[in-house]
Amino acid sequence: MLNLQLGIRHAVGRQGQVILDLKSSAFDPKEKVWTKFPPEGSKYTPPHNSSDFRWKDYCPKVFRTLRKLFKVDPADYMLSLCGDEALRELSSPGKSGSFFYLTNDDRYMIKTMKKSEVKILLKMLPAYYNHVRAFEDTLVTKFFGLHCVKLAGANQKKVRFVIMGNLFCSDHTIHRRFDLKGSSLGRTTDKPLAEIDEYTTLKDLDLNFIFRLQKQWFQEFQSRQVDKDCEFLEHEKIMDYSLLVGVHFRGAVDIDGDEPATPRLSRWDRDHFLSDPNRWSKIKLGANMLSRAELTIRKNEGDVIGQPTGQYCDVILYFGIIDILQDYDIGKKIEHAYKSFQYDSTSISAVDPRQYSKRFKDFIYKAFQEDRVDS
Ligand code: ATP
Repeated sequence: MLNLQLGIRHAVGRQGQVILDLKSSAFDPKEKVWTKFPPEGSKYTPPHNSSDFRWKDYCPKVFRTLRKLFKVDPADYMLSLCGDEALRELSSPGKSGSFFYLTNDDRYMIKTMKKSEVKILLKMLPAYYNHVRAFEDTLVTKFFGLHCVKLAGANQKKVRFVIMGNLFCSDHTIHRRFDLKGSSLGRTTDKPLAEIDEYTTLKDLDLNFIFRLQKQWFQEFQSRQVDKDCEFLEHEKIMDYSLLVGVHFRGAVDIDGDEPATPRLSRWDRDHFLSDPNRWSKIKLGANMLSRAELTIRKNEGDVIGQPTGQYCDVILYFGIIDILQDYDIGKKIEHAYKSFQYDSTSISAVDPRQYSKRFKDFIYKAFQEDRVDS
């Protein structure tokens, strides 16, 4: 962690000019800078108490420009990541074996990556750059930096990691989180009901809501963003991504649906809430969005989505598309062929990128719908 912070301080401190129209050479995967960090310090690096290591910055100009596009101030960025006790390790939330760290101010997440994931990110970087430039409200994960640390010594492994935005950076407690892919096989949490809490990542078959967005939000969500983002991911041959959704319930609510009572905001509350200038600046697609959630009940076990019950509650939603660094390689083709002997081939996670994106959107547009009631 200390090496990582020393490296970031060095990388971000080395300011350069930010030009939006980057030359293609800036995206060259060979465009990486190695820096030695001897404990005694060097001409370019400070002395430190950690072990001797080397630090690599991938495509530094591109990430510097991305940070600018994402409106990240370099001094704030450094403060978030490099202050004392700035990082805390999360108990591994994914099954891929990656380590996750969160900054203390909740803004950034650091995820360790496999070499194959680094390769995919570097390959898609020019298209990613163009996409986030074209669509300010993209829901695709925001990447701020890609780095590698290697301890000195013959048999030391490289640790590669990416710095990304935490979707759940908010003043509101996230009461429920769902990781939605649109596939059904194995898409339930393995936790017993009594152990499910606000930190449990629930999955497609655990979803017991339809999120109803106001008309403009829904249009923005569907045609301007999810469609565009999926088009981009499909074009880059990416699959296995998820829509990560965080739900904050306004007021006490029975989120498992055992009790009928679900509170609603009064008209005054809602108007007051919407006109609060402090909130406005933080509202955007996928962040801090006041909406309604309708409770659903799954009548049949295989139902992709439950039946609406007519019971609503007011929620604040946070969401974005995560885990976008898996392409449809030979391993996935074999997994698909193998699993499709055993299961319905449309229910399994490993399908080709076109099918994946279609199934993802079909599901997401069932889980998120336009709120037709003007209340
Ligand atoms: P898996 O193999 O299970 O898909 P993984 O190790 O590849 O997992 P991700 O799917 O990227 O990891 O993330 C695992 C979990 O970490 C997510 O379900 C979510 O709870 C959390 N997470 C990942 N990225 C973010 C993010 N940008 N903001 C907030 N939470 C995140």
